[in-house]
Amino acid sequence: MAEFTMELNDEQKEVRDWLHGFAADVIRPAAAEWDEREETPWPVIQEAAKLGIYSLDFYAQQFFDPTGLGIPMTMEELFWGDAGIALSIVGTGLAAVGVLANGTEEQIGTWVPQMYGDANDVKVAAFCSSEPDAGSDVAAMRTRAVYDEAKDEWVLNGTKTWATNGGIASVHVVVAVVDPELGSKGHASFIVPPNTPGLAQGQKFKKHGIRASHTAEVVLENVRVPGHCLLGGKEKLDERLARARERAKSGGERVKNAAMATFEASRPAVGAMAVGTARAAYEEALEYAKTRSQFGRPIIDNQGVAFQLADMRTQIDAARLLVWRASWMATTGKKFENAEGSMSKLYASETAKKVTGQAIQILGGNGFTREYPVERMHRDAAIYTIFEGTSEIQRLVIARTLSGMPIR
Ligand SMILES: Cc1cc2nc3c(=O)[nH]c(=O)nc-3n(C[C@H](O)[C@H](O)[C@H](O)COP(=O)(O)OP(=O)(O)OC[C@H]3O[C@@H](n4cnc5c(N)ncnc54)[C@H](O)[C@@H]3O)c2cc1C
Repeated sequence: MAEFTMELNDEQKEVRDWLHGFAADVIRPAAAEWDEREETPWPVIQEAAKLGIYSLDFYAQQFFDPTGLGIPMTMEELFWGDAGIALSIVGTGLAAVGVLANGTEEQIGTWVPQMYGDANDVKVAAFCSSEPDAGSDVAAMRTRAVYDEAKDEWVLNGTKTWATNGGIASVHVVVAVVDPELGSKGHASFIVPPNTPGLAQGQKFKKHGIRASHTAEVVLENVRVPGHCLLGGKEKLDERLARARERAKSGGERVKNAAMATFEASRPAVGAMAVGTARAAYEEALEYAKTRSQFGRPIIDNQGVAFQLADMRTQIDAARLLVWRASWMATTGKKFENAEGSMSKLYASETAKKVTGQAIQILGGNGFTREYPVERMHRDAAIYTIFEGTSEIQRLVIARTLSGMPIR
């Protein structure tokens, strides 16, 4: 088991500096343009692919870092560059994790490489769970998957929404209901291979922030996928459903805890994205406060400004420590007894929203314009308290975990 330390090792520092270089030299200079264009920044993804930053190998290496800090460090640096572009680079990972978590070795080997493509022909993938009537309330999902035994095919029907890379992805991972009686325990995940008839992009959303990341509805009309596209396979699904039916009769507590543990382990990665955006805005504000003069002295000479910066930096460091703790716990197999994963996502995302707002204030009129990056960072930061579970849902999870009560 890895020894606990607060310091990155030499190898981690090297990777961090390499990522920081890419974020500073390639992502940041392109940020304003792709934010305005509201399009997927394919040339930047391609550049990342050429360097190995957009590849399964790189994320696998970071994921298997025994300290748990590989992924948060990666997220923080890329999102420091720009949140919209970084999400375009790491969004495929969400779909890949869906396959890695539920797929067989053969499914992982077949589909995950197709999600990334290669440096000359980059592809992206989408993870489609949310629906118009099933956001926070995942159990309300309606997209149906019905097994056609005669043809050994699954038939998918429904509408997914808010899918990052939805419709432009090569591979879509779609979560659907296979047994409506079982609520979220009756869900299963399916691969929809490239160019499958019946899958179409619906509305593409025009967003407040992370505008370089493509977000759209995905409409599924009689989408037929081969039996082998059910992640984990039919036998495993049948066993899981049988167990869920048994447990539904006798309380269901253990299944619920297993699902919660998965979310607890993935949430710190979103916290790390938020830390990256917050740090970027703080650095802009600090530099500006030291160089902008009013009343014959730098504005940082006023406690009202300096103390804000002191609080911003303190909160960013606290957020990072919560993220690192949760990531370390997930990797080293510690039990999330106090919803530490949710705590890290809650605190880091709220910090990013607050700190980016303070940065605008410190830059004054300039902060309010698109000439300076902090207004974009503030718009981007608003996503962190919404996706991968809103702040209210994180508080619900934390409160339920701490109290053991079914708080609503
Ligand atoms: C840019 C973007 C990208 C996304 N990418 C993906 C993706 O790739 N794949 C995917 O599947 N989904 C994705 N999502 C969806 C995202 O996860 C959902 O938006 C999120 O889960 C919230 O669901 P909702 O929008 O339906 O809000 P709702 O669930 O309708 O919530 C609305 C408000 O009510 C509050 N609320 C709801 N229930 C409770 C409660 N019990 N107690 C207290 N407050 C409550 C919420 O906190 C929120 O403030 C994305 C969303 C966005 C905006």
